[in-house]
Amino acid sequence: MEGELYLKWVRRVEALEREGIIKSRQVKEAFLKVPRYKFVSEENKQWAHIDEPLPIPAGQTISAPHMVAIMLELAKLEEGMRVLEIGTGSGWNAALIAELVKTDVYTVERIPELAEFARKNLERAGYENRVHVILGDGTNGFPPKAPYDRIIVTAGAPKVPEPLVEQLRVGGKLLIPVGSYHLWQELLEVVKLDERGRRRIIKHGGVAFVPLVGEHGW
Ligand code: SAM
Repeated sequence: MEGELYLKWVRRVEALEREGIIKSRQVKEAFLKVPRYKFVSEENKQWAHIDEPLPIPAGQTISAPHMVAIMLELAKLEEGMRVLEIGTGSGWNAALIAELVKTDVYTVERIPELAEFARKNLERAGYENRVHVILGDGTNGFPPKAPYDRIIVTAGAPKVPEPLVEQLRVGGKLLIPVGSYHLWQELLEVVKLDERGRRRIIKHGGVAFVPLVGEHGW
């Protein structure tokens, strides 16, 4: 069963590479090391190689492989970078980030049931010591470990949450979908230019995420 699942996963990774979505050796290797079926419930494992979002507990979703690959390629993660993820969900993206930066990763989830789901998945996959799941409102960031080289938000916001820009290192970047509550957002890359929080914003096209719910979100 596991062998079959892994073979299908390898084919998905190769397809993403052929389509030009996976571009770098590092992202390809991380995808091969961290198959998506390890982060979904038993009944969804057979669908984990399909390039679509899948349901996880509490009415949330694990993103489609192409979406995760697009964001990780844009993030240009390097070994040793300090990364904060907002929206742990299943823990899959956080485990991929840990493979890329080869150091501790911080990830915030607002729904207790999902923080627990992610912790279990991460433990089974062997990431419990490197990925730290924090239960809370990620629109406030996670000040104890700031500043961050990268902040990756995997839920859709109405606007850029200012605490996240404050917690970026100068030269660091935030990736965040910003737009409407349902259906459509634009993926923004926000580069922090100075300590006053001046920024350059690059738009990377339309995406569809579940809402970022919180003090600086919906
Ligand atoms: N990155 C996840 C993965 O790899 O499975 C998928 C994330 S899912 C599309 C979005 C997640 O963001 C949901 O689990 C949701 O509960 C969470 N979320 C929404 N608003 C949040 C907030 N203010 N703080 C932290 N998590 C939040």
